[in-house]
Amino acid sequence: MFREMRRKNQLLPAEESISILEKASSGVLSLLGDEGYPYGVPLSYVYLEGRLLFHGATVGHKIDALRRCEKASFCVIDRDEVKPELRSTWYRSVIAFGKVSLLEGEEKRRALEAIGAKYSPQDPEGCRKEIEESFDHTAIICLEIEHLSGKAAKALV
Ligand SMILES: Cc1cc2nc3c(=O)[nH]c(=O)nc-3n(C[C@H](O)[C@H](O)[C@H](O)COP(=O)(O)OP(=O)(O)OC[C@H]3O[C@@H](n4cnc5c(N)ncnc54)[C@H](O)[C@@H]3O)c2cc1C
Repeated sequence: MFREMRRKNQLLPAEESISILEKASSGVLSLLGDEGYPYGVPLSYVYLEGRLLFHGATVGHKIDALRRCEKASFCVIDRDEVKPELRSTWYRSVIAFGKVSLLEGEEKRRALEAIGAKYSPQDPEGCRKEIEESFDHTAIICLEIEHLSGKAAKALV
């Protein structure tokens, strides 16, 4: 049911799209927000075995939105280099589609550990302490990727 890219020559190989997800530090999670208005919210995340994991408060707009509709997408911009003389932008980006859910228990703990390892690899002890302190009032959103596409400007393929 997911669409194919019209400009197939600009499609990135799957492994390159995954490596963008592994490397980037933020993207925009799009959910069905209030009254049908799409809600695109910037978030840090971790890519782990076909899933995107996000952490945040247990209440708020994005939590209300995902409880309303599990379908979501997540977009990461890897490169955005404006080339005025070419009237163009050299870009690379990925979009993942999938369903979101809230993780609990051991899965939630493993996700928090993975987020700590990505963003504060120099301080495992600090991460461990923060996970203990914040565990009960932190939510982990998991986006199970069903479809992933990556696209690059023509000049980069
Ligand atoms: C690079 C980056 C990384 C981030 N990483 C994380 C993360 O890992 N975890 C996390 O919880 N948050 C992160 N944030 C903050 C995140 O964007 C949200 O502000 C936060 O998650 C609260 O979302 P909410 O839906 O609960 O907010 P709510 O306060 O419930 O949202 C209410 C309204 O506030 C406005 N709003 C909320 N967030 C933003 C925003 N970022 N910019 C402009 N308007 C906004 C919108 O109008 C929204 O409808 C990050 C932000 C940036 C820019």
